Amino acid sequence: MNPSQNALKNLPKTRVELHVHLDGSVRHETLWELAKKKNMKLPGNGTFEELQDALVIKNPVDLTHFLQPFLIFTQYIAGDLDAIERIAYEFCEDEAKNGVAYVEARYCPHFWLGTTDFHGKLKELGEVVSAVNRGFQRGENDFGVKANTILSALNGTGTIKDIVELCKKFKGDGVVGLDIAMNANDKSETYVEVPLNQEEIGAYEEARKSGIHRTLHAGEAGGAEMVQRALDVYHTERVGHGYRVVENEAIYSSCKEKRVHFETCPWSSYLTGTVPLGVRKHPIVRFAEDGVNFSLNSDDPTLTGRTLRDDYVLAASWGLTEAHAIRANLNAAHACFLPDNEKAQLIKKIYKELNIKLPVSEDSVDSESSNHEQRVYIRFCGALELALRGYDESDVSENMGVYHELIQFSAELDKDLQIHLSQTSAFKVIPKIVENELLQCMLEVYHDEVHKEIKHADYVAIIVVETTDVSRKFQLVIVLR
Ligand SMILES: [Zn+2]
Repeated sequence: MNPSQNALKNLPKTRVELHVHLDGSVRHETLWELAKKKNMKLPGNGTFEELQDALVIKNPVDLTHFLQPFLIFTQYIAGDLDAIERIAYEFCEDEAKNGVAYVEARYCPHFWLGTTDFHGKLKELGEVVSAVNRGFQRGENDFGVKANTILSALNGTGTIKDIVELCKKFKGDGVVGLDIAMNANDKSETYVEVPLNQEEIGAYEEARKSGIHRTLHAGEAGGAEMVQRALDVYHTERVGHGYRVVENEAIYSSCKEKRVHFETCPWSSYLTGTVPLGVRKHPIVRFAEDGVNFSLNSDDPTLTGRTLRDDYVLAASWGLTEAHAIRANLNAAHACFLPDNEKAQLIKKIYKELNIKLPVSEDSVDSESSNHEQRVYIRFCGALELALRGYDESDVSENMGVYHELIQFSAELDKDLQIHLSQTSAFKVIPKIVENELLQCMLEVYHDEVHKEIKHADYVAIIVVETTDVSRKFQLVIVLR
């Protein structure tokens, strides 16, 4: 490892990026080199400057216009597994420079297949995914950036079936979710952002049943009703962009209430023509002021010609404060598609990098001298959620009985705890206080691992958070103080 790699690896990293297209995050220099090496057609007179000029969007028109450069440079990469691995590796280096601790980079494997015939190519698509995974693995080792991928289908092209298959095949091996992105060949006039396409809806349902996470572009090229449709029909867990949700107060309030996560992208929101720069209040500012669950992301650096840092600078110029930015990253960490234990590790790492002491940690629970003043510790209870998932209202089993009892404790809210929680933007919370007896019962039924932590806590509350998933799924969070 060379000294600059080492410096990048040791750089404090506190950002979490959830919406960035790997196939739109290729360095201009790399594209230039690849095109030259392969003797492929370059724009204009073939100089680097002219390539760069053709790649970066200067004037906002619409999403179709924004995506046009993909039609120039995708051919330089397609079918070249070494180039794909290199791009993934370089991406990690760039993310390290952006201070990113964890990224979920999305891409469309079909783009990089090297053929326009998408059918029956699962093996080849799998090789593309493996090449990205190799690049990310090396990148993680050398630059200290953890990277997973979301696989994107191309809207209306029948690619979604392959994508779900690939998500299943690579689940736990670098791939954490799926998405649908606009095809650069789509025409703005006829484009439906979240179509009522049975194949795509069915694929999202299949993904849900298979435990594959889902995000979906909505409220960017389309209006607020597309966001509603993405949530109601596709059961997406996060929304890509979502700016135009503010056009409908009812939908906006409901998203705010349900803690729907919006993956916002400042520079791209301008360059795609979605939100003009002169707008009185950018929706991202509104999200920040209203405590909406959102994150800050870079979308397509190849096309915006900007880095994630620039996105933070732009958002700050609109009025986002340091606190808003930190919240956005914690929102992202909570909304990411990592398994619960890895998510908890990520959140812990961010606090550590921010030099904020977590009140209860594995190392401090046994220490008598640990500080009791502000011991608040929040964690997701995956096992508890799992145990409750699938039970319906008519369920009279012992587990459901415990659950109902938890709900009944809602009257006994602890005011201090409530205030503390209302100040964290990560959850929309309804605390339920649990008496020891009931807690004990719950612990016996579900939770060996939490027992250790609870033993050392001064106070325990159970929180039920309704998720955007309509399948009666509740996210349970335990707070210890
Ligand atoms: Zn996108």
